[in-house]
Amino acid sequence: MKKSCAPFHPEHLFSHNGASMQSHKKENSGKAKRLVSKLGLNVVRQYYRETGDWYAPILGYPCALFDPYGYIVLSEQADLDRHKIKVYKGDRIFVDNGISSLTGYTYLPISEERSLQPTSNLILLDRRVQDLRNRGPISRPAGNTKPNLVKGASHPEIQRLPAVKAWILQEAKGICELCRQRGPFLTHQGESYLEVHHVVQLAGGGPDTVENSVALCPNCHRLLHFGVDADSQRQKLYLAVPRVKGE
Ligand SMILES: [Zn+2]
Ligand SMILES: [Zn+2]
Repeated sequence: MKKSCAPFHPEHLFSHNGASMQSHKKENSGKAKRLVSKLGLNVVRQYYRETGDWYAPILGYPCALFDPYGYIVLSEQADLDRHKIKVYKGDRIFVDNGISSLTGYTYLPISEERSLQPTSNLILLDRRVQDLRNRGPISRPAGNTKPNLVKGASHPEIQRLPAVKAWILQEAKGICELCRQRGPFLTHQGESYLEVHHVVQLAGGGPDTVENSVALCPNCHRLLHFGVDADSQRQKLYLAVPRVKGE
């Protein structure tokens, strides 16, 4: 559910001590170079940033900006304006919602096998969902009746199957399964935005299957989690969506 969004904190740029900043820089530039040669990109400069927002001054075009999941190529300086990328003191550049929000952002290629693997990382999950959907129609997945619980550092995390989420979104075609309204806005993929909800929550022992998943608009989704009439709405869901089996 939660989508990570890098907040704008210019002071973080200067909070590192000099030494670790240097080694970080070196590491990032190594990563960027390896990616460029692996992808065979025709660029004269390349920059890598874990958070996809702040980048070092651009010293030549065309250049590639990377985050851990993809990249964008800027062919000329005018592309900065075109993408509303801000240039700050010292010519560092800042991308408001990260490079993944820009038109022309390309995901790094991953294998279909990798895309099918369950994960508890929600960013990775969405990337795999997108990758599966880009590959073409998805057949109804069996899902996982006993999703793996990863005993994490601070709280247990549950691994989810990308194919379940991808199939639910594919079948919903942008229409909320509870209120039957179209999702409130278009995504970068040109589809009405919906979220995938587990009717019996995974944390409560619910299965990660399409029979326990529904596509909802953000309002209906929050309603089912926090609404005073969540229970009656859930009953409505059982009636409205034959795929979902009631308790
Ligand atoms: Zn709705
Ligand atoms: Zn939910």
